[in-house]
Amino acid sequence: MTVVGLDDTDSRERGMCTTYVATEVASRLAEQTDATVERLLLVRLNPAVEHKTRGNAALAIHLGHDQECDPETAFEVARATLEDLAETADDRTNPGLVVAGHAPDEVPDGVSAFTLSAIRDHLSIAEATTLADDHGYRRWGAGNGRGQIGALAAVGAWVALEERDWTHEYISYREPERWGTPRTVDEESVFAAAEEGYPTVWDTVDRAEGETVCVPHTPGPILHGIRGDDPEAVRTVSRSIGSEPVARTQRFVTNQGTDVHLKDGSTLESLAAVRDGRAYRLEGRVAGEPETRQGGHVFFKLVDPANGDISPASSVEATETLTCAAFEPTKRFRDRVRALRVGDRLTVCGEVARGTLKLEKFAVRDLVETERVTPTCESCGRRMKSAGRGQGYRCRDCGTAAETKVDRPLERDLDVGWYEVPPCARRHVAKPLVRGGFDGPTHPER
Ligand code: ATP
Repeated sequence: MTVVGLDDTDSRERGMCTTYVATEVASRLAEQTDATVERLLLVRLNPAVEHKTRGNAALAIHLGHDQECDPETAFEVARATLEDLAETADDRTNPGLVVAGHAPDEVPDGVSAFTLSAIRDHLSIAEATTLADDHGYRRWGAGNGRGQIGALAAVGAWVALEERDWTHEYISYREPERWGTPRTVDEESVFAAAEEGYPTVWDTVDRAEGETVCVPHTPGPILHGIRGDDPEAVRTVSRSIGSEPVARTQRFVTNQGTDVHLKDGSTLESLAAVRDGRAYRLEGRVAGEPETRQGGHVFFKLVDPANGDISPASSVEATETLTCAAFEPTKRFRDRVRALRVGDRLTVCGEVARGTLKLEKFAVRDLVETERVTPTCESCGRRMKSAGRGQGYRCRDCGTAAETKVDRPLERDLDVGWYEVPPCARRHVAKPLVRGGFDGPTHPER
């Protein structure tokens, strides 16, 4: 058996798409050899990688038992296809190919560990080529060879992720002469099909934004991609969409919508130990009121839960705070973030960039239900005034006094449980709440 891994064939300006190159490699292998294509894997790697074109996808083709398609033949066919299709005129496109002469589930430990690192960390080209050579894999790279990182990661994915859930995407491709022109898709049929398929099929549309999320805006060959938990369901939804002619379709097994990119923050010493370019799941308490800044981006500070009791009364001087952000494109999610109050206990998930965690979702674990306020005078009902530093409060008119602030019930516009960005702002690898399996109530966006 043979596994073909490939990556980095497209260009932001010129179009193309590595999923398309993979379908072409698979169909040439089926035509030119007696190989049986068992499945195509679409693996999303670390979304924080700076070299990515868009979604940091790498692809693997799993070939069935066959004498006629030895790894050498598969390698030659794949390399010829990459040379034909990859947008190497763009010097940021650095295609890579890695071919392993074993079954997808016979991946050695070192290679599957490499895959997990490619999803959660940053790797070098040399790490990829050395490891591929150590295992006798055939490999090829153009440009600076960077695509071999993703290609090797795709080879290791079937074992690296075998404990996790796989999802499916059914991609429909445009006729090549239409690439780069506006897409003709019947929006109404997309919304109707999305409704039929939900919740098995998710992130097809964003109902609140009125957006057909499954239809890309970039110049590449994809007409639409339908994602979900079940291979039949994604195909059914795809087929109910009215559109321009579909040139070809392909179903991919993927790690999309799984949250496999999140590192477990409980292994960190403190929030301050997070590193840029990685995504985490972290526990903390809200340490400052959320603040909306220019551009509509919302920020708040999170503090280590171990950092003592943060109540709205205490001013938080903790040094170990982490800024969390909900940027403008996350739309209505920002209202959820604005509803947070100092002292709320949270689990937050997202990528850290320049010291700021870009929220993908958060769980409210404990809501602060009261706030400390200046007491009111029992006689006249007016708010008391400070009687001087450390001397409590006084009503100047009635002469009544109180020693400290008092608790007042706080109206909360938030419940305990998970909140998420809407489908229009979802990262490919982030898990939609509707998929279930979360450790608390969920408030899914659709
Ligand atoms: P494409 O459709 O071409 O795959 P993309 O958005 O998936 O577009 P790429 O053009 O593939 O992005 O660019 C990502 C590059 O980064 C690839 O060369 C890949 O090998 C490399 N890469 C992926 N993950 C990592 C990682 N964790 N560390 C370092 N490099 C990585």
